[in-house]
Amino acid sequence: MGIIIYHVICTVLSCILLYMMLSLIRQHNVLNIMLLIFVCIANFGYTFLAVSRTIEEALLANKIVYIGCFIPFIMILSYAAFCKVKLPKPLVWGLVILNLVQLFFINSIGYIGIYYKDAKLGDYKGASYLIKTYGPGHSLYIMLLLLETLMSVAVLVYAFRKKKNATYHTTMFLGLGVVVSVLVFIIERRIGLPIDLLAAAYVIYGIIYLYISYRIQVYTISSGIISVYERRKNYVCLSIDNRFRLMDYNENSMELFPEIKDIRVDTDGYKKDGELYNTIIVWIKDMASKGLEEDEKIITINDLIYRTTIRKRVAGVRRYIGYVVEMIDDTDFQNNLIIMERTMADLDRARQSAIQASHAKSDFMANMSHEIRTPINAIVGMDEMIIRETKEPAIAEYAGYINEAGNQLLSLVNDILDFEKIEAGKLEISNEKYSLGRIIRGVYQMMHTRAANKNIEFVVKADPRLPDSLYGDENRIRQILINLISNGIKYTMSGCVTLSVSGFQSPPDKIELHFEVRDTGIGIREEDMEKIFDSFERVDSKRNRNVQGTGLGLAITRAVVEKMSGKISASSTYGKGSTFTVVLPQRVTDKKEMGSWQRTEVLKEDGVERLTINSPDMRVLAVDDMPLNLIVIEKFLAMSKLKLDTATNANDAIKLISENDYDVVLMDHFMPDKDGVEALQEIRAKGGKYETLPVIAITANAIAGSREEYLSLGFQDYISKPVDYNALIDILLRYSP
Ligand code: ATP
Ligand code: MG
Repeated sequence: MGIIIYHVICTVLSCILLYMMLSLIRQHNVLNIMLLIFVCIANFGYTFLAVSRTIEEALLANKIVYIGCFIPFIMILSYAAFCKVKLPKPLVWGLVILNLVQLFFINSIGYIGIYYKDAKLGDYKGASYLIKTYGPGHSLYIMLLLLETLMSVAVLVYAFRKKKNATYHTTMFLGLGVVVSVLVFIIERRIGLPIDLLAAAYVIYGIIYLYISYRIQVYTISSGIISVYERRKNYVCLSIDNRFRLMDYNENSMELFPEIKDIRVDTDGYKKDGELYNTIIVWIKDMASKGLEEDEKIITINDLIYRTTIRKRVAGVRRYIGYVVEMIDDTDFQNNLIIMERTMADLDRARQSAIQASHAKSDFMANMSHEIRTPINAIVGMDEMIIRETKEPAIAEYAGYINEAGNQLLSLVNDILDFEKIEAGKLEISNEKYSLGRIIRGVYQMMHTRAANKNIEFVVKADPRLPDSLYGDENRIRQILINLISNGIKYTMSGCVTLSVSGFQSPPDKIELHFEVRDTGIGIREEDMEKIFDSFERVDSKRNRNVQGTGLGLAITRAVVEKMSGKISASSTYGKGSTFTVVLPQRVTDKKEMGSWQRTEVLKEDGVERLTINSPDMRVLAVDDMPLNLIVIEKFLAMSKLKLDTATNANDAIKLISENDYDVVLMDHFMPDKDGVEALQEIRAKGGKYETLPVIAITANAIAGSREEYLSLGFQDYISKPVDYNALIDILLRYSP
């Protein structure tokens, strides 16, 4: 009974091994599978033999067992495959024929007495077996077995000596297979046990094959890669195991790694310093210590550039770890990359120097503009003096031209400065409390004479319900309006230019101001509309050739509007006129309505029309030690609607200033006790609103450079004695609330 169980166990184990081989190993080797199939069949035969009841059954079972006679032959083939040893074809065919003859002899049992002379059914502890007398055929079988075993050993020894790709470990295991065969043979012959040990030996073969296939599958994966690319030019592939032993390599590797020839496969070949193979091993060790799965480097050898990749491979349940080293000739690509990088670097340098040049140009422009502005200011200032003081109409006319040209130059320089600021992203908006009415009045004052000179009407329509006190950048708003209105005047030959100001308030303190500048001028063509906001872009050059301009105005205007989070738009009918609209969000600081924007009235006195101030809330203080001078000012302002106080000395003035809220102080320069400059210093020293209180110097001391001098002393402006009516009204209007 025990023997039957032994055979059943061997049969079941064989089947399990076959199943495992099929399911565990990803890359099937036909030889291995065939071997396990034969093992199963043979073991099945053994079981059948043990349970057979008649001699016929036993003989049939014996024939099934002998199908296993192919196993040693398949072993030779698979050993050769494992070790990458090529067997001579005649030898293989010879063995096939011998095995077939053998099979014929075995199948003749019971008919011809070549193999067994005689066979009887025996019983050993309940299990049947054949009691046989061997014939000459059997001796042939033994010889064939011996031959095949010797050949297996020869393959292993040859592979081992030639350092073929079978690993050391694998060779040992394969050798074990041979040892088992020989042992079984000797034991059977010597001891002559009725129990057949070969059944168990087959199971041992199966285990060996399964183990080896399982263990080396990590390397066979790389071998797969190696065989696919074997012949690709300059492709190098190595397989290294987790103990940094060389496992496999392709032919190309020999050129790059001549040291490989001296390295036995499956041994630690890391010997000589400075050699490429050594470098690779150090690299893999480094990867392993860092736990990297993959790493890539560029390695240059003899002018060839190799993209070298090392990938970790894992087979089984993380048990078999190996590294596949691949070196791909990437010389062309890498060379192109180098050229490309150089070109990029050149381009970048060119770009940097262009940026530098552009910065240098901008700095130069900004410096130049700044330097030009100072002398122009002096020229314009001096020229204003001439206009005021000259009695000669011709001189006044010439000076008027100088003034006009000077102002043009000044605005051009200012435009360039602004443009450079915009380009450099340095345009700044400085927000402060301002009066909307005052902006409108200032703009009107500047623009209406210009329009009048061209015989064009300039009309301002401002909604009186708009709040007057807002928070924002008043200078920039003025700049926007002046740019748009001067364009309107410039590009209008007849008719009128209208500035409309309206707004939408949104509680609690927001307002959207709408400025609209409409003209009845030449208009802009539809296709030019997009260009007009670009810098240095002037359109309709034929018609505009006599109109002065640089094409910067609208570009600057748009940049300023956008910086203030506003919007600018234009519409036009060619030949009929244009409309520019600016929408600016602002903050309301006081809800008090602006009322009429105008602060002037033309009144008749002694039959003469005079411009007077209409600003009932305005408070003015005039300070002069000569009462006569104060009387002149009182007389001049008698028709204007404003509140005027006077003081005859500095101390009284300072007292009045601290008690009342004045909009403007007219301060005489030379006074006994404390002069105007000392008084001003005292006022400014009070700090707060007194630091910006408009104080205008009245002086008989109007010589060259006076304006600069007074400004530097802290006055906002000056007027010269004897006081001129228009100059006085002009300056007061400038500071009216
Ligand atoms: P700058 O304002 O720098 O002195 P400019 O007036 O020529 O020069 P922009 O204000 O930027 O430059 O205007 C650009 C162009 O748009 C002008 O040259 C003009 O052709 C056209 N343009 C601007 N405003 C008007 C307008 N109101 N009517 C007709 N054309 C206009
Ligand atoms: Mg312009």
